Amino acid sequence: MSTPLRQAVMQRQEQTFAPRRKSGVKLALLIVVLLVVIAGIVFSAISILKRVSVPASGNGAGHAGRQYSIVAAEGEQYGPPGTPPDQMVLYTKPVDHVFFHPLIAYPEKAFDFDYQAKGFDDYFVTVSEFNKIIASMYERGYMMVDINDVYEKGADANGKVKYRQKPLLMPKGKIPFILSIDDVNYYPYMIENGVITKLVLDENGEAAAYTTTPAGETKVVRDLDIVPIIDDFVKKHPDFSLNNAKGLIGLTGYEGVLGYRTYVKNNPGRESEIELVKPVIRRLKETGWQFASHSYGHYDAAVISYDKLKSDTQRWKDEVEPLIGPTQIYIYPFGSGVKTTDPKFKMFVSLGFTMMCTVGNEAYYAYTDIGATSSRWHFDGIALRYQGNSTSNFYDAAAVIDPVRPVQYQKK
Ligand SMILES: [Zn+2]
Repeated sequence: MSTPLRQAVMQRQEQTFAPRRKSGVKLALLIVVLLVVIAGIVFSAISILKRVSVPASGNGAGHAGRQYSIVAAEGEQYGPPGTPPDQMVLYTKPVDHVFFHPLIAYPEKAFDFDYQAKGFDDYFVTVSEFNKIIASMYERGYMMVDINDVYEKGADANGKVKYRQKPLLMPKGKIPFILSIDDVNYYPYMIENGVITKLVLDENGEAAAYTTTPAGETKVVRDLDIVPIIDDFVKKHPDFSLNNAKGLIGLTGYEGVLGYRTYVKNNPGRESEIELVKPVIRRLKETGWQFASHSYGHYDAAVISYDKLKSDTQRWKDEVEPLIGPTQIYIYPFGSGVKTTDPKFKMFVSLGFTMMCTVGNEAYYAYTDIGATSSRWHFDGIALRYQGNSTSNFYDAAAVIDPVRPVQYQKK
């Protein structure tokens, strides 16, 4: 049900899902709405700036710890330690959201010309490609932010409650982005095709990748999947992460989570798997990672019935949410999605999800009074092979693409 082929079809369909821009007669209305929104953002920014306590004798470098004193209502800090408050600027554009699947650790297993190889070529990137993309984004000023910091529920001047973009203060020159990883479940089909086996804690208590090499050797490493790679990258480059934000981990439930078989049905080993995954989840949360529902059974929300979708969503809440804690974020499988006016959307909201993420090559957000929908860039083989122009703000696709990809899969 989560075969790459099906994903191929659905992801293409999804490209047409994101609602298009308004036109003609609605332009004037749109301008008025924009002015109101901008006024709201400016007003909120002023409130935030009022909370900024500028040190009495402020000369940046000497005060690293306390100097960095932009404080949010919840006591959260903004910006990397040492950023003087006057170097923080309000970011008002829609925030880019990019997603990956778990990485191809062993290309020889992914690109072995079996029936799934083409799917791996289309929807996955290799470790080398991921490292190059992240390095490029860092060089160009990108900085990870928490998805919960880019949207909020608030009342407008007339008291009408609506979801909206949350004012985001960024260090000057930095561009915010959200990172997400779909299907961090390490399904058997992924493991068989060159993805690592599961996330574990290494000897230092940090999240790491447990894997069996093609030669049959099992080991714990930090360089073969996204979580440890990003953790180490941020350690080296703290200014790649705002407020210690890391990525958003999208989980289904039907094969368990993070490589642990925690599903309920016909699974006598469930309790021991839960005990094993608990400390890993705890460490991920401590180190800035967030979780999202990616449905329970990886069904297409647009296609299955309302009742089936509701029971699938509830099943995720029953089986997965107790492991990772509550989340307001839902990532549609297959980059599919439902309209905000669809009863299915209301159902998601009623079960606690207020940000629904789909796929589309732009930073797109739609806000309503009950929740929000947004799109995510797919950084994968298709993007690297054929969409280098649209992703050129992030990386040079020609410089990133791994020569290990089979030439046979290159469209003529
Ligand atoms: Zn998926």
